[in-house]
Order: sequence, then structure tokens, then C-alpha cells
Amino acid sequence: MSRKTNYTDLIGETDTARDIRDDDALRRTHSMTVAMLEHAHKLIAEAEKELKEKNQRIKTLENLAVTDEMTGLLNRRGFEHAVEQEMDRIHRGQSLGGAFALLDMDKFKPINDTYGHYAGDLCIQAVARCLQSKIRSTDMAGRLGGDEFAIYLSNVDRKMAIKKLKKINQKINDLSLVWDDQLINIGASMGCVMVDNSIKSYKDIYTRADHEMYRVKTMSRDHETQRNEILSETNLI
Ligand code: GH3
Ligand code: MG
Repeated sequence: MSRKTNYTDLIGETDTARDIRDDDALRRTHSMTVAMLEHAHKLIAEAEKELKEKNQRIKTLENLAVTDEMTGLLNRRGFEHAVEQEMDRIHRGQSLGGAFALLDMDKFKPINDTYGHYAGDLCIQAVARCLQSKIRSTDMAGRLGGDEFAIYLSNVDRKMAIKKLKKINQKINDLSLVWDDQLINIGASMGCVMVDNSIKSYKDIYTRADHEMYRVKTMSRDHETQRNEILSETNLI
């Protein structure tokens, strides 16, 4: 024979050689699969992180959309939506009912005119803090705009509502602010409505409370009576 004999050619691949070749292929496939899986896990983790951040951003934006920036209370949209949800609960029999109160600060324009807009803002914030601190975590407080506020007391009967609203009204009308060594007295008129199964819409509640609030405001203006006395005489409608 002139060339070196290749015995493998003659007798074919041995079992051992084939096993070694298969092992190598298996190892290569295995390490490729592991690398691909690691890469896939990394991509999934990155996507999950991105989704979490996006959900967080959506939540923040949703909160901003329903929050009054100056006071941190619910804004008009947020408050209306929250009360409508409560009304659904009442209609489904999941809540006894509640009480809605609308407040508009009295003679607030003169406070702005006399002490300036910044002092006015501090008065608005004082009212907001007072309302928030006097309600339960299941109740709601909102600044509907300008010097107008609203609260909703959930799961209360008429007797309890009157007791609580009188107390809140008293606290608001006891508020004052020291500004440039002068005392600014803060006050508001309150109109209240019981919210039960018979109420059909938020607009209905708001209109009735607004009407009642103006009645109280006019009485306190005309008779220079203390607003607290007026509320105690007023029946919750
Ligand atoms: P009334 O006793 O009849 O309620 O009269 P009022 O002087 O309180 O005035 P009214 O409620 O009619 O108007 C509210 C005023 O609140 C008008 C506006 O100058 C002022 N105002 C509205 N938004 C803001 C605010 O964000 N900051 C300040 N400082 N003032 C505001
Ligand atoms: Mg006012």
C-alpha cells in the first residue's frame, strides 16, 4: 500500500469515537441552550422592570389627575368619581348611605385683597388640613375649586352625620391664621345632604347641597349670625 491505511475508512467509525463525537455535540447544544435561556431570562427581567416602572408612572399620573395640587385633597373630578362609586355601593346594598357636605369659604375675596394671594392660599390649605384631619380614612374630602370644598361621610345615619358635620363646621369656623402679626379669621358656610337609595345622580346631590349652602351663607350675612348656630338649626336634607 502506497498511502497510509485509514483503518476507520476500512472498518467504519468505532462505537467509542461515535460516542465522543455525540458527547461533544451534546455539550455544545447544552451550553448554547443554557446561554439562550440566560439571555431570555435577562430579557424577561428587563421587560418586567420596564412594565413595573410604566405601571408606577401610570399610577402617579392617575393620582395627579384626581388630586388638587395646592391641598393634596381630591380635585373636582376625583371627588365626583369617588362619590359616584359610593352611590353604586349604596344602590347595591353594600353601604348604609352617607352624608355629603359642601363648604364655601366666607368673605374670602377680602382676605386676598387685604393680605395678598399667598396668605389666601395658606387659608385654603388650613381649611383642607382641617377637613382631612376630621374625617375617617373611609370618608373623602375634596377641593372642588377656588374656595369651595366638599366632604363625604360614608356609612353614617342622619343622627351620626349631624353630630359629625356640626363638629367639622365648628372646627372650620374656629380656624385662624397669623399673617404679618395680624389675625385672619377663616370661616365657611356648609350645606349638607343625606345620600341614600333615593338619590339618582351626583348632580342631584351637588345641586341640593349648593342650594342649602347658599341659604346658610345668606342667613349668616343677613343676620350676622354665627354659622355654627345656623347649621345646628338646619335640618340635614
Ligand atoms: P362669599 O362670602 O359670598 O363666598 O364671597 P367670597 O369673598 O368668599 O368670594 P367667592 O366665594 O365668590 O369667590 C372665591 C374667591 O376665591 C375668588 C378668587 O379670588 C379666590 N380664589 C379662587 N381660587 C383661589 C386660589 O387658588 N388662591 C387664592 N388665594 N384665592 C383663590
Ligand atoms: Mg366664598
